[in-house]
Amino acid sequence: MKAPDFDYLRPSTLSDALALLARADGDAMPLAGGQSLMPMMNFRVASPSALVDLADLAELRGIHRDGDFIRIGAMTRYAELATSAEVMSALPLFGMALPHIAHDAIRNRGTLGGTIALGDPAAEMPALALALGARIEVAGPEGTRLIAADDFYLGYYETARATDELIVAIHYPVAKGDDRFGFHELTQRHGDYALAGAVVARTAQGHRVAFFGVADRPLRLPALEQALNANTDAHAALHHLSGIAFTGDVKANAATRKRLAAVALTRALQGMTP
Ligand SMILES: Cc1cc2nc3c(=O)[nH]c(=O)nc-3n(C[C@H](O)[C@H](O)[C@H](O)COP(=O)(O)OP(=O)(O)OC[C@H]3O[C@@H](n4cnc5c(N)ncnc54)[C@H](O)[C@@H]3O)c2cc1C
Repeated sequence: MKAPDFDYLRPSTLSDALALLARADGDAMPLAGGQSLMPMMNFRVASPSALVDLADLAELRGIHRDGDFIRIGAMTRYAELATSAEVMSALPLFGMALPHIAHDAIRNRGTLGGTIALGDPAAEMPALALALGARIEVAGPEGTRLIAADDFYLGYYETARATDELIVAIHYPVAKGDDRFGFHELTQRHGDYALAGAVVARTAQGHRVAFFGVADRPLRLPALEQALNANTDAHAALHHLSGIAFTGDVKANAATRKRLAAVALTRALQGMTP
């Protein structure tokens, strides 16, 4: 199928983009890499009256280290993340997760802001944002605000971003020397969305564990994190997985997903690096 008719708008500044989004009464959508939005429009799952292309917004670009944080512009593509020495050393989890996101063609176009905004429950980057305690910088008519990743994902493809707001950047805490990270996902084929995945960050503050592909949103399980902090045997800690309302679909029913989540977490914990 082809996408329904839409207006194509290409502002050159953030304030112009926000004005266009506001003017369209919530019926316009931002366009980043188009790797999810264009298929959604072709399948008529999304039918915005206008697309506001973010390609020319310098405000949404750049990777900058600022003290203990690294700020990554929303329009940074996966391929740029993977080739950034600064990102790879500050955020070891990115190096573990990026090869699992789709394929080269999609990683050459898809952006960090796009995947964070979309909130696909099976996507890797939203779960990394949760595990790392990232903050999402959002600009709108009222100004700019920072939203903790913990407060960002509200439900199935539902986020705390209003339709007239744009994600400008994502701020991640930089890894410290003793921090350890683990990542594992289970898929039918390499590059597919995960049937279940787990991300673990162990810092001086304790464990943060995020799951993806298992429920209506990426999520953490505080009881499981506390069990790991208390040095509970990882196998025993797995019973906390019953705190998740597992999704069941044609690929895996809820009971299978629970088993896959247990496998993903166990392997993520076993593979903790660096
Ligand atoms: C075959 C295939 C396989 C894939 N496999 C995976 C996978 O395994 N894992 C995975 O995570 N993803 C996968 N993807 C999706 C891919 O990662 C997308 O690139 C990503 O989800 C969206 O990024 P984008 O830049 O393309 O955003 P777009 O498609 O342009 O936009 C996605 C959504 O975010 C909104 N948006 C975009 N940028 C902003 C912004 N700055 N502020 C506010 N809203 C914004 C758009 O309006 C839209 O609603 C796959 C895609 C395809 C086609």
